[in-house]
Amino acid sequence: MIDSSTSKRINEIIESGESAVILTHRNPDGDAIGSSTALAIYLRKRNVPVNIIIPNDVPDFLKWLPGCDMITIFKNDSTRCRELVNDAGTLFFLDFNEPDRVEELKEEILSSTANKILIDHHQNPFDFADIVISDTSRGSVGEMIYEFIVDLGGKELLDNDIATSLYVAIITDTGNFRHSSSYPGVFHIVGELMNYGIEKDKIFTNVYDSYSENRMKLMGFCMLEKMTIFKEYNTAYISITQEELQRFDHQIGDTEGFVNIPFSMVGIKFTALFIEKKGYVKISFRSKGTFSVSAFSKKHFNGGGHVNAAGGQDDGSLSDILNKFESLLPDYEDELRD
Ligand code: 5GP
Ligand code: MN
Repeated sequence: MIDSSTSKRINEIIESGESAVILTHRNPDGDAIGSSTALAIYLRKRNVPVNIIIPNDVPDFLKWLPGCDMITIFKNDSTRCRELVNDAGTLFFLDFNEPDRVEELKEEILSSTANKILIDHHQNPFDFADIVISDTSRGSVGEMIYEFIVDLGGKELLDNDIATSLYVAIITDTGNFRHSSSYPGVFHIVGELMNYGIEKDKIFTNVYDSYSENRMKLMGFCMLEKMTIFKEYNTAYISITQEELQRFDHQIGDTEGFVNIPFSMVGIKFTALFIEKKGYVKISFRSKGTFSVSAFSKKHFNGGGHVNAAGGQDDGSLSDILNKFESLLPDYEDELRD
């Protein structure tokens, strides 16, 4: 995946002894955290002083991951995060490709003279890194980190902790191999990871069977009261207000996966989840097949992402945004209808 001159250059950067900072996106998912902890553990084994910076909290279902001790959260400790970025010899950008996604650290990152290495699988990378490893055909950055380590000649440094992190990255971003995993290499990589004694069943339980009672009840409420279905467009959406989130004592990560639930209904090709935040609405889009939610989100909701999974935001009121979404569906009739 990386040519030999690039891997030589990266190995020289790693061996320089300068510190590294790994950055990933807000509301980090399993791929963002798992890729970051795997890379951090690998760099630490190569004697690189390394830190991970995340804009906001790590969800509970990922806090057990090895390497989470290297994470600093910008929201909680912005001064330290700015220092870490300013002092770093290398900045790694994982699972995002636009400087806006690191929010308040954007200026520091753009003006930094550190070596900047981007490893990502989203579409249309912005030009802000010196070394860009971008592959939109990959289901997860986790797969790419595995190959990155192997390409650098570091396979002997792989261990149970790195393999566990990478496995979490891969299963979460492919929805347990349900999507984004038609590429045979992903199964080869997972086969390799199994050789490091990862506890696959325990990992599944930690990631998926860790929800609170409130989360289950919020999900039931959303299915019963908050899901709107447009059979003629094979579309369904769920919307949740702040008041409803509070009623169910919402914790970060509680709405994770809700956007996929309507796909269990026959025919559904396009789903959306609208969550009212303070001052804006966070939107997730998912699709099955060729309908590009990334293009849809970019055009109408200030977002982007992948063909079948994208996000966006809008600072209008929730009801206005839902009206806007509903009024857009007829424009996509040809793509959405059977
Ligand atoms: P999610 O719905 O899980 O927040 O995001 C789905 C996918 O879209 C993820 O790969 C995420 O990185 C991407 N995404 C989410 N929000 C945005 C956004 O505002 N801009 C862009 N470019 N991508 C986004
Ligand atoms: Mn990802």
